[in-house]
Amino acid sequence: MRIKQLTIILMGLMLTLPLNAQKRKGETGNEPLFGKELASYTVASNKLAGATFYLVSGHGGPDPGAMGLYQGRPLYEDEYAYDIILRLARELMMRGVKVHIIIQDKKDGIREDRILPGSERETCMGKAIPLKQNDRLQQRAAKINELYRKDNSRYRRAVFIHVDSRSESKQTDVFFYHAPGSKNGKRLADNLRKTFADKYKQHQPGRGFTGTVSERNLYVLRNTTPVGVFLELGNIRNKQDQKRLIIPSNRQALARWIADGIEKDFKQ
Ligand SMILES: [Zn+2]
Repeated sequence: MRIKQLTIILMGLMLTLPLNAQKRKGETGNEPLFGKELASYTVASNKLAGATFYLVSGHGGPDPGAMGLYQGRPLYEDEYAYDIILRLARELMMRGVKVHIIIQDKKDGIREDRILPGSERETCMGKAIPLKQNDRLQQRAAKINELYRKDNSRYRRAVFIHVDSRSESKQTDVFFYHAPGSKNGKRLADNLRKTFADKYKQHQPGRGFTGTVSERNLYVLRNTTPVGVFLELGNIRNKQDQKRLIIPSNRQALARWIADGIEKDFKQ
């Protein structure tokens, strides 16, 4: 009788252990979404131990988002946002955190190509993404809130990544948005902006950084429980901004800087 009870308790415990639980320094993990070559990773530090993230790339499925043209070929917002989200997920996982990748594509891993072809394969963690904007946003917000209720980390943050579309001649920097009145959202956005400004100072002295932090009344910021930040990475139609997206090492740098900014925020 006792052994049976104990077995039931143990099985119950095992079921509640999340599959993507955080790992300690030196441990290895495997995330097939990163693609064959990068699926396996080793935790390099415990600097973000105890944190949980909900990472969301904009659009996806039937909706490619903003579009640009590069040497006669189309650039799709959802593909670049997704590649950068995967890189950010890997950066964060290597710092020992738990990550939920909300929008997923089973085939596209982290890609080293300049042109990322469009696809409609993306899902919201396995569920088809609806075409209508309201349904689409509602679906991802509900998913984040459902996961949030099951997580119990002290530091839980949602990161939304998008690419803007403005007139071709308008060059922009990276912009950081938080929900109206969110103190912690503003703090995270400020830390991200500061990190970007510092990195540009290091790597491109004299360039200056004009990206700003502001409130924005966006559905996904308003309707999700974790503190969130929403990034616009540039104008997909502008030649200069396109370099930030199409050069794979630039996408990696963006992901690393975002992870560094998060780390700065976490320490506070
Ligand atoms: Zn967008």
